[in-house]
Amino acid sequence: MKEFQCGSLVPGCQWQTRHAEEAEVMRRAVEHMRETHGETVIRETMVEAIRSRVTNHRENA
Ligand SMILES: [Zn+2]
Repeated sequence: MKEFQCGSLVPGCQWQTRHAEEAEVMRRAVEHMRETHGETVIRETMVEAIRSRVTNHRENA
């Protein structure tokens, strides 16, 4: 399970998402950046910044 917490990129934002597929976490995160943070153009640096903050979330560690 992959997890992304927006607060790790945008201080103060409580939004987070989890999905089995990293690609889906990335898709949702990019959508969130557009809709909530007004990032109309998602640059490669932004994508990399998100990707580097996607973490493994263990349900049953
Ligand atoms: Zn956010």
